[in-house]
Amino acid sequence: MSKSSVAAPATLKTVGYGSNSAQSPLAPFSFERREPGPRDIQIEILYCGVCHSDLHTVRNEWQNTIYPCVPGHEIVGRVTAVGNQVKTFKAGDVAAVGCMVDSCRSCASCRDGLEQYCEVGFVGTYNGEDKHLGGVTYGGYSDKIVVDQDFVLRVPANLDLAATSPLLCAGITTYSPLRHWKVGKGQRVGIVGLGGLGHMGIKLAHAMGAEVVLFTTSPNKKEDAQRLGANEVVVSKNQNEMERQLNRFDFILDTVSAPHNVDAFLQLLKRDGTLCMVGASPEPFPVPVFSLIMKRRQFAGSLIGGIAETQEMLDFCGKHGITSDIEIIPIQQINQAYERMLKSDVKYRFVIDMASLKG
Ligand code: NAP
Ligand code: ZN
Ligand code: ZN
Repeated sequence: MSKSSVAAPATLKTVGYGSNSAQSPLAPFSFERREPGPRDIQIEILYCGVCHSDLHTVRNEWQNTIYPCVPGHEIVGRVTAVGNQVKTFKAGDVAAVGCMVDSCRSCASCRDGLEQYCEVGFVGTYNGEDKHLGGVTYGGYSDKIVVDQDFVLRVPANLDLAATSPLLCAGITTYSPLRHWKVGKGQRVGIVGLGGLGHMGIKLAHAMGAEVVLFTTSPNKKEDAQRLGANEVVVSKNQNEMERQLNRFDFILDTVSAPHNVDAFLQLLKRDGTLCMVGASPEPFPVPVFSLIMKRRQFAGSLIGGIAETQEMLDFCGKHGITSDIEIIPIQQINQAYERMLKSDVKYRFVIDMASLKG
């Protein structure tokens, strides 16, 4: 009888930060990544932004987390190796990775360049199904990543690398709905919440030519919002200020991460206006239908953006000199950063300097 054995795939030792349960803080964690295959790009991660979705996932707030969980999907780094079929990147190039590392590539959404709506389900950069090694995908809070070339983005040469990393989620998640609903000159656009997504929403809507109004629960963010490009700032807890905005908006983008009164924002839409949710509250909240039917208003949602559109957004940011306002942290401070993010106390995105992993 002849013996047969299947060789274990070659792997790369990787260090990062991960969590073992909804209750555990993030802590050092070592794991394996695949060696780059013919179509793969291996990237040394330089910076990774900290998205509120990382926090929702680490704490299992959406009840779909597979542990151990290594979050991070706002990745900028340097290419260290490429497979023999890769033509677009070479060792030494700057490269970026966002929220997806693969999709089915053949369904109607993938064919339309909308991989985020892949009908089979896209492969998330973390907490997705690892089709190569089995198990779960691990994200950007780590020293390296290996990604199929089709899901690797280019960073415009004029942009600061650390401040670019949040564009890979916060940037595309706000850019995509602003484009889809054709926001531009002559329109009055609301952004709800001044955090990571919200501050990118202001910058992008302003660059697209819209008149931008920020709605915030934090009166102390007023001046920052104006500096970022808001024409007006409304404290959403102030009834008088809210009443002055009734029926005045073409489009409102809601980035709030927790349950809140969305009806207060529906009421601000003109006839045929749209309120689009990108904030992903774990708990549902009520939506009164009369606020919709009386003015044919629309209540919508939007998920990140496709790969081609993500590149378009990066190029738009390069052209307009747009990056994120960031606070750089060593990875050892990630748990404190989460607590500050929960208190809406970040200006306006934490970015992990991955060199700190070696320290
Ligand atoms: P963030 O930096 O924490 O910002 C959220 C902002 O919402 C806060 O700064 C705060 O702004 C406001 N806020 C928080 N709690 C609130 C409450 N209880 N009531 C009213 N306002 C509140 O978070 P982020 O990274 O921008 O993410 C925001 C949400 O978008 C998260 O749920 C995240 O998971 C989701 N997300 C969705 C997508 C997508 O594809 N749809 C992609 C990425 C992230 P003020 O201080 O100005 O009030
Ligand atoms: Zn994100
Ligand atoms: Zn698909």
